[in-house]
Amino acid sequence: MSKRDYYEVLGVAKNASDDELKKAYRKLAMKYHPDRNQGDKSKEAEEKFKEAKEAYEMLSDSQKRAAYDQYGHAGVDPNRGMGGMGEGFGGFAEAFGDIFGDMFSQGRRGGGGRQVYRGNDLSYAMEITLEEAAKGKDAQIRIPSWDNCDTCHGSGAKPGTSAKTCSTCNGMGSVQMRQGFFSVQQTCPHCRGTGKIIPEPCISCGGQGKVKRQKTLEVKIPAGIDDGMRIRSAGNGEPGTNGGPAGDLYIEIRIRDHDIFERDGDDLHCNVPVSFITAALGGEIEVPTLAGKAAIDIPEGTQAGKQFRLRGKGIKGIRSSYPGDLYCHIVVETPVKLTEHQRKLLKELDESLKKGGAKHSPSGEGWTDRLKSFFS
Ligand SMILES: [Zn+2]
Ligand SMILES: [Zn+2]
Repeated sequence: MSKRDYYEVLGVAKNASDDELKKAYRKLAMKYHPDRNQGDKSKEAEEKFKEAKEAYEMLSDSQKRAAYDQYGHAGVDPNRGMGGMGEGFGGFAEAFGDIFGDMFSQGRRGGGGRQVYRGNDLSYAMEITLEEAAKGKDAQIRIPSWDNCDTCHGSGAKPGTSAKTCSTCNGMGSVQMRQGFFSVQQTCPHCRGTGKIIPEPCISCGGQGKVKRQKTLEVKIPAGIDDGMRIRSAGNGEPGTNGGPAGDLYIEIRIRDHDIFERDGDDLHCNVPVSFITAALGGEIEVPTLAGKAAIDIPEGTQAGKQFRLRGKGIKGIRSSYPGDLYCHIVVETPVKLTEHQRKLLKELDESLKKGGAKHSPSGEGWTDRLKSFFS
């Protein structure tokens, strides 16, 4: 889905003033707020609301707006620093709490009345072999994690300085607003709900107090997993904000193409080449299975395309009680690079078969009839 232009979303000109942006957003927010769009239209309204919210958050920040004007959507990343799109409508009260606070439900609040957000989910693509999918696997993956910054020990303040308690909210992260008969609690606009102001931010972490690192995670890939399935690792996504819960990590499984087997659910398929002599005379042939070699007896007169089923030699799916089957598809091979002697033998054989008429050629008779009626 292509992303709409932020100015178009808000319905304002490219040179719109901050005031115009705010007005346009306010109008859209009123129209699409979830509290006013219940039932059938709630999904669409929620999307529109999020779209407008994102556009406003980007354009109301002069730095982001400049980047957007120059590079378009590629210049700004709405997921950065927003602390969880789609989780409640937290940013709303922040921007307009003083006006709409009494109309709209508030975001979830943590200790001290601060706005808390759940961290974003992360996804990780993992490629495994068919054998690993069948047997299961203990894997190790490297994922980003956030640690307290070594320089400021997590405070976010430059060493030698310290974070100060926000004077607007006295460290509570929220403020009481009186509107007519109502008293409404809102996120503090000064410290944005953190309860603290950092006069001189730490250079190493930019005042975040935490830095991105790598950590190794043990993942159990269950036996029978199929291509496209996801494994959820709870709490290993991005960290939450203000003590909010971390997001989840989703490991998406991709199964590499196999040289021999093709998987279809719990069943496996493979092609088995057989000489035309063996196909004609019958005999024991060797076939591969995931557990090693197996032998099957093919009867005389086996035709190309015939399939033989080996029960239980497929894969036992995650939710299956029994393993699937292995289908061996017979591919009859035409001999190549014949010597003069071999040619002579085949010609003799051909003569002999022709004398026997159609009885040696099970599909030939029907075929000749079909051709006749097709051309007449
Ligand atoms: Zn730091
Ligand atoms: Zn404050």
